[in-house]
Amino acid sequence: MDKTKLYPLRFEPIYQYRLWGGRRLVSLLSAPLPGDEPIGEAWVLSDRTDHQSPVANGLLRGLTLGQVLEQFPEQLMGKWSSRFRRFPLLLKFLDAHEMLSVQVHPSDDPSELISKGDTAKTEAWVVIEAEKGSQIYAGLKSDTTADILRKSLHDGTIADHLVSISPKTGDAVFIPAGTVHTLGNDVVVFEVQQNSDVTFRLYDWGHIDSVTKEPRPLQVDQAFACIEFGASDSGLVAPCVETTTPVERERLFDCAAFLVWRVHGRDRFTVGEAAEPRVLVGIEGSGQITHDGTPYAVGKGDVWLLPAEVGVCAFEPSGEATMLEIAIP
Ligand SMILES: [Zn+2]
Repeated sequence: MDKTKLYPLRFEPIYQYRLWGGRRLVSLLSAPLPGDEPIGEAWVLSDRTDHQSPVANGLLRGLTLGQVLEQFPEQLMGKWSSRFRRFPLLLKFLDAHEMLSVQVHPSDDPSELISKGDTAKTEAWVVIEAEKGSQIYAGLKSDTTADILRKSLHDGTIADHLVSISPKTGDAVFIPAGTVHTLGNDVVVFEVQQNSDVTFRLYDWGHIDSVTKEPRPLQVDQAFACIEFGASDSGLVAPCVETTTPVERERLFDCAAFLVWRVHGRDRFTVGEAAEPRVLVGIEGSGQITHDGTPYAVGKGDVWLLPAEVGVCAFEPSGEATMLEIAIP
């Protein structure tokens, strides 16, 4: 048996060209942004076959997240080791300079819309930066029927039928599978989602891809097959304050796919949990995790995976800091 002891793992971000992207991730992430093309997404924790996050620190440096999970399933996943063959969450920062396509992700039903090996996709956003004109659409207005929505695709009035949010830094937005959604006009968000890449585009604002010189394909029929019409718990979330000392701990999202807390303050607190993996994301300020006497620096935009074997660690903010802690329920 391999006696390697796991430790807090940091991963290199994987940058993705997107026609709607910008260059704002330069100031958010420590790794340099490639080229000068618009970067829409930084995948900061990914166990996708085509995009594997590489470990950036310590003994396991260079191994991918998938390889770590394969070689150390119990040490990494703890009580979830028999449940997941790949890491179930995909974490990203999005820099939406322009509007993304209006899109929807499937739930598990109907499952024929999900390609083999993929899953449903519920996702959630925490707003990192927003401008005056920034825009989030999350869900359909309650009186929007399938007929009204289909007609609006042709006359370009789809935005009139979507629930509109003017995002502010710190807003938390929940997008369960089946929710029509998009965002853009210079908004940067942290995104937590199920490890899935199934997206159906309904509408793309007339965008032409500057690389292909073509509009991007739409998947209108598949999108309609997975849209949830009627009442939904999508949209802005009211954070639930769990504790106020020694630091403020708010629960932002609590669904079947993920749990997310926001921890804010200047005093020492603990992160991680025995026998399960946790992810820590630096949102504002900085500090350090200490594990086995070794400090691990956490800055803005940094993502650390705390393997189950690592368990509970102390976190020491340097001044005022805001972190997200993410768990698998
Ligand atoms: Zn989405």
